[in-house]
Amino acid sequence: MENDELRAKFLERYGESEEAIHHYFAPGRVNLIGEHIDYNGGHVLPAAIGMGVHMMLRADDSSQLRIASTLDDIEHRFSVEEALALEASGQWYDYVLGVLQELHRRGVPVSGADILLDSDLPIGAGLSSSAAVEVVTAYAVMRMANHPVDRRELAILCQLVENRHVGVNCGIMDQYAVANGKAGHAMLLDCDAIESEYIPVDLGDYQLLILHTNKPRKLVESKYNERRAECDQALAILGAQREISYLCEAEFEELELVSDPVIKRRLRHVITEEWRVLLSVEALKSGEIEQFGQLLTASHSSLRDDYEVSGDELDALVDLSLDWKGCIGARMTGAGFGGCAIALIHRDSVKGFAEYLKEGYEARTGLMAGVYETVISDGVVLVDG
Ligand code: ADP
Ligand code: MG
Repeated sequence: MENDELRAKFLERYGESEEAIHHYFAPGRVNLIGEHIDYNGGHVLPAAIGMGVHMMLRADDSSQLRIASTLDDIEHRFSVEEALALEASGQWYDYVLGVLQELHRRGVPVSGADILLDSDLPIGAGLSSSAAVEVVTAYAVMRMANHPVDRRELAILCQLVENRHVGVNCGIMDQYAVANGKAGHAMLLDCDAIESEYIPVDLGDYQLLILHTNKPRKLVESKYNERRAECDQALAILGAQREISYLCEAEFEELELVSDPVIKRRLRHVITEEWRVLLSVEALKSGEIEQFGQLLTASHSSLRDDYEVSGDELDALVDLSLDWKGCIGARMTGAGFGGCAIALIHRDSVKGFAEYLKEGYEARTGLMAGVYETVISDGVVLVDG
């Protein structure tokens, strides 16, 4: 929705008043490379993207909250007191109220307000619409209260809300990327120290595309927990020989210590994926885009064969992409079993590619693929007001 249209929708719903309407925006994010190593003490390389969540907010002294989203066009009303006490109930506004509660706990004043959310992100696609909702809420309320904003702290607060209030066991990457993104740059993020370095992403003649499987992510949680348990097993095996705190510290030679073939494959993914992240950073810094593309493709093979978190739909997107002449690399991104893939496609052939991919993907899976041209963007901002 255009900005003016969203403002008109806000006024139509809540009516005019003396108070100013503030427009905030938080982007979604995509992880370029470094999959399933955040919980193994490794590095990830996410970037904020052009699509994201808009929030129109008008604060007042009514001590009433009215919250709506263009997602379902239903208005929810709470007194501030009620909103600050309500437990999560499986509704989308859990994310908003969880953030308000956490801010309140830290002494940030929460007043009455009218809020309207709108988004152009596919929801549940692994592009972190949930983190965008949390971060835009926290940022907006802090700015309204003239509270200083530390983006790192803000990300940590939002992760805590998703973990404790909503009950989703996510790492720090999503909220961090949404809060700290920088146009034209990815973030090399150490998920353990929660420290990052901006890495310029200049793809030259290539365009970063996000490809959506449109497959509901069903298996994700149980498989995610299974992989984490397998990593714990690998760590215990290596830990019996020497001091080691994280699996990403393992040496390639240590693979020989693991006899179980499954655990060995998991460990091989973790070790090689960390290498690929660091090599990707070198490739990006020196403008070797084709090298970067090859690392993306190698990451996919490792996730498919060693870590076994891909699936027919993600494999179809990646295989079809790699068969396209103008493609120099592709891989699944996110936890896997659905969600999205990314591909680097020559600028001159993006249109033809999108048609080719949709057709081939439907023939192979019976599903419609989403194809999004992606711009690497800034983190959460005040757009207007
Ligand atoms: P992802 O973060 O990958 O998009 P999640 O399942 O983590 O998927 O988060 C999706 C949830 O976030 C939605 O089910 C909804 O509760 C909330 N959400 C995302 N975008 C919006 C929006 N525009 N309006 C209201 N709620 C939203
Ligand atoms: Mg999410």
